[in-house]
Amino acid sequence: MKLDCKHVWEHISGYIDNTVDAKLREEIERHLEHCEICSAILDSTSQVVGAIERRVFSVNGALFQLHKD
Ligand SMILES: [Zn+2]
Repeated sequence: MKLDCKHVWEHISGYIDNTVDAKLREEIERHLEHCEICSAILDSTSQVVGAIERRVFSVNGALFQLHKD
């Protein structure tokens, strides 16, 4: 199973709060190792909580919109 960025973003608040299960946590960590965008998102943890609600992330001045269907 390979996570893409959207999946990481959906679970990143749970990852921060440590409420994701161990397997998902492992997958997220593996993704973070090679993904600069998600690493940057995680670095700005304080912004992430509000960003999750708006589903918009700002990373290094670039905006990422999380679409959910
Ligand atoms: Zn990513």
